[in-house]
Amino acid sequence: MTANAAKAGQVSILVFIDALGWEVLRGRPFLDEELPYRRKLRSVFGFSSACIPSILSGLMPREHRHWSFFFYSPRTSPFRPLRPLNLLPGSILDRGRVRHLLSRLVKWIYGYSGYFELYNIPFRHIHLFDYCEKKDLFVPGGLNQGRNIFDHLQSGGVRYHVSDWRQSEEVNLEALKQDLQRAEIRFALLYMASMDSLLHQVGKASIEVDRKLAWYEAQLREVLRLAREQYQEVRLFICSDHGMATIHTQVDLMAKIEALGLVFGRDYVATYDSTMGRFWFHNDQARARISARLEEVPEGRILPEEELRALGCDFEGRQYGELIFLMRPGVLIVPSHMGLKPITGMHGYHPDDPDSDASLLSNVEPPTDPRAIPDVFRLMRAEAGV
Ligand SMILES: [Zn+2]
Repeated sequence: MTANAAKAGQVSILVFIDALGWEVLRGRPFLDEELPYRRKLRSVFGFSSACIPSILSGLMPREHRHWSFFFYSPRTSPFRPLRPLNLLPGSILDRGRVRHLLSRLVKWIYGYSGYFELYNIPFRHIHLFDYCEKKDLFVPGGLNQGRNIFDHLQSGGVRYHVSDWRQSEEVNLEALKQDLQRAEIRFALLYMASMDSLLHQVGKASIEVDRKLAWYEAQLREVLRLAREQYQEVRLFICSDHGMATIHTQVDLMAKIEALGLVFGRDYVATYDSTMGRFWFHNDQARARISARLEEVPEGRILPEEELRALGCDFEGRQYGELIFLMRPGVLIVPSHMGLKPITGMHGYHPDDPDSDASLLSNVEPPTDPRAIPDVFRLMRAEAGV
């Protein structure tokens, strides 16, 4: 009997590294020998809250209906009970730690299984908004609309491993190794989240990014070695959802709009993400004045309808905004409803920007010719045979 005869057949491992952009990897050694097949993937317009559902489902945001976390919907808003928190002083409420603890409490009370953060959405207006990721994306039935890879794995009866995104990278690596050693799975999705926060903090040029890549390299070599002990063929893929642009300019978009003297909630509603302002209008005058003011801001532009359609971000009922103002790459809205402080790196710019590009690396030629991040879904299905 040969050594191979005792081994299981094939396993495909997809490692998701958040924000491992094509431009982040450029010029850096990273598993060059192990993963010689490399390609750039076009990202999806939006933050990880839009990109990850597209990777998991092959659908565009308009189809899975996940985009930015908060959207205007006073009739369905579950947050009215939080409004009195507005009476607490900003010195307490603006602390990240306080917001984070409150978010955990709200998540527990409401029974949300998804990623939930209140960020800096103002409590004064919180009853006007609903939230798009109440459910865990990484389980069957996890999407607002459409089927994800876990629905397919489940109905195909495939034994698989998936990380718990609430856990650290170390815990997730250990759990994967244990499942590989049992040799009962044929597909695995390893979720690695901390590259994203590092890149936000230090930017893509930092030496700390090289150190982090070296750590991933060592960890994934060990995963490959262990898997090869148990399986005859180990197919390893690494993919990401977007890259990271370096911030060079900050704009206080909120102040420019508030200076118009219109009343939030009566004339208009807005939410300010790090890279875009999203607006809903209650009268024509507000629409005209806000649009005119935005036209005067050179650091960004209003996205026309056709462009949103081409980006797959034309939502039914204009769920995520009647008007989307997108900043140019490297321009950060500060303060925003996502954060009050400046930061070194950001994503969520136009997918045409090279810093938006994601990556796909593998030790075998991908069987499906992926070009954009939703194609990773079709790759996973082909690998898992579902
Ligand atoms: Zn991020």
